[in-house]
Amino acid sequence: MIINPQKTRTLVTGGAGFLGSHLCERLLSEGHDVICLDNFFTGSKGNVAHLINNPHFELMRHDVTFPLYVEVDQIYNLACPASPIHYQYDPVQTTKTSVHGAINMLGLAKRTKARIFQASTSEVYGDPEVHPQPESYWGKVNPIGIRSCYDEGKRCAETLFFDYYRQHNLDIKVARIFNTYGPRMHPNDGRVVSNFIVQALKGEDITIYGDGQQTRSFCYVDDLIEGFIRFMETESGFTGPLNMGNPIEMTMLVLAEKVINLVGGKSKLVFHPLPSDDPKQRQPDIRLAKEKLAWEPKVTLDDGLRETVNYFRKILNA
Ligand code: NAD
Ligand code: UDP
Repeated sequence: MIINPQKTRTLVTGGAGFLGSHLCERLLSEGHDVICLDNFFTGSKGNVAHLINNPHFELMRHDVTFPLYVEVDQIYNLACPASPIHYQYDPVQTTKTSVHGAINMLGLAKRTKARIFQASTSEVYGDPEVHPQPESYWGKVNPIGIRSCYDEGKRCAETLFFDYYRQHNLDIKVARIFNTYGPRMHPNDGRVVSNFIVQALKGEDITIYGDGQQTRSFCYVDDLIEGFIRFMETESGFTGPLNMGNPIEMTMLVLAEKVINLVGGKSKLVFHPLPSDDPKQRQPDIRLAKEKLAWEPKVTLDDGLRETVNYFRKILNA
């Protein structure tokens, strides 16, 4: 038998979701064994259907809020609904997923001595007063609002990761992910990129929340996954938190224009009330990732949006 010393058995929680499915694909392409765990709340078997016949791939239905006993070398903990509509659908379950999920996966990492990656979020910065956001910024988060189940759940998960690191010497990697888009986003998850593209493809009005002057910075999924892999390969002791995202910032009005130009059609802009606690601005400071991983996003917004539009055209037959 040939043993590949680089090969690992990797657990990806939330592996049937948008980011998780791309990560599973990438890990398999590098020869790793992958256990993809998901409760299919927002993910689907369809996202990983093309991987099912790969002998190195295993799909497991499980909820991370319950303990898990498997033998693994590394863990990517991505399980958690990410879009506001989905995480606000059952907010108590969202917090449980982040907090109990983190406790269970950290316990698993402790027993198996696995390196463990946490998909944290730019939401830990809340509605930021520091711009762009460096990792050293502690954030401005409402603890009792409609976004808190997600924001505070993810903040508590970060606390647990760092306490396991200090108390049990766990090998942790905490990434703070900024808005990411690409194929396999859920068409109805309400996130801005999927909403605008689906609306434009169907010839419907484009829904701008508030006056559309709020900003975000959008990273294409392939760039992000490259960052995950590089981060996971850094030396033990480099724990993060590490910002991962594309620093090119724009208003939602500019994004809407770009999508309309790309898709064509006759969609008009309509204005809806801004949801509460919606951050006014967001841009990652990625100097640390550049220095430590020699990583920065490469895919332009035009190229990334074109790929995403093609994906939605296919699944919507539009
Ligand atoms: P997604 O909703 O497509 O994927 C989440 C996956 O987790 C889904 O497959 C879902 O079914 C699964 N899941 C949810 N609760 C679970 C539970 N209790 N047990 C097991 N599986 C469960 O979202 P995504 O965009 O792929 O996000 C993946 C991770 O990255 C999330 O943790 C999210 O918070 C984080 N993140 C994503 C973004 C982004 O822009 N996409 C930004 C910041 C952070
Ligand atoms: N947004 C919008 N129209 C939509 C969906 C979202 O104008 O149809 C806005 C939303 O209010 C927010 C931004 O787009 O200011 C990004 O929203 P998303 O839900 O994608 O991500 P998040 O707010 O979590 O960064």
